Amino acid sequence: MNLILMGLPGAGKGTQAEKIVEKYGIPHISTGDMFRSAIKEGTELGNKAKSFMDKGELVPDEVTIGIVRERLGKPDCKKGFLLDGFPRTIAQAEALENLLTDMDSNIDYVVHIRVPLEKLIDRLTGRRICPTCGATYHVEYNPPKQEGLCDIDGSELIQRDDDKPATVKNRLDVNMEQAQPLLDFYDQKGYLVTINGDREINEVFVEIDQKLGGISS
Ligand SMILES: [Zn+2]
Repeated sequence: MNLILMGLPGAGKGTQAEKIVEKYGIPHISTGDMFRSAIKEGTELGNKAKSFMDKGELVPDEVTIGIVRERLGKPDCKKGFLLDGFPRTIAQAEALENLLTDMDSNIDYVVHIRVPLEKLIDRLTGRRICPTCGATYHVEYNPPKQEGLCDIDGSELIQRDDDKPATVKNRLDVNMEQAQPLLDFYDQKGYLVTINGDREINEVFVEIDQKLGGISS
């Protein structure tokens, strides 16, 4: 089962990734983790990637794709993988196709968790954090017992700058613009599976599992 997971920030990708990994027994491969472990292992490509990141530059595609190739070649990917955060561009998606063809493999599904924009804004701007203990709350989905105050230590909760409406809106716009060509690309290839993410966590997973054919169940 070779999967790619897509969805905007706040769509619940992380939570669903955990469930997919547990049910299908495949590793969750996020771009960040992949870079971190390549750098930690000190592979040639890891070192290359680091040299760009240290300069604050984007890691070129050929380095990123090389790292993906190495990662997908590891034994834990024999049963498949769940890619998250890669590919980000059509060029990367095409490189991934070539890489998988070389490995005598292919993508099975691109799982897109879709949540209406206004819901995402609600989810992302409702986050509150305790500056003292770091506990996180959500004004709607996980409110503290007393409004605006941490349950643990009573500190006044704050909203991070990243969670303020203008920043959130901007982040979503940028992400959407980036994702749309990819979604179209995979839709044309017949890989795209769109999931209604505007529901309770378990209901979302049931739909994913059904659409993937419930292969392991
Ligand atoms: Zn606290």
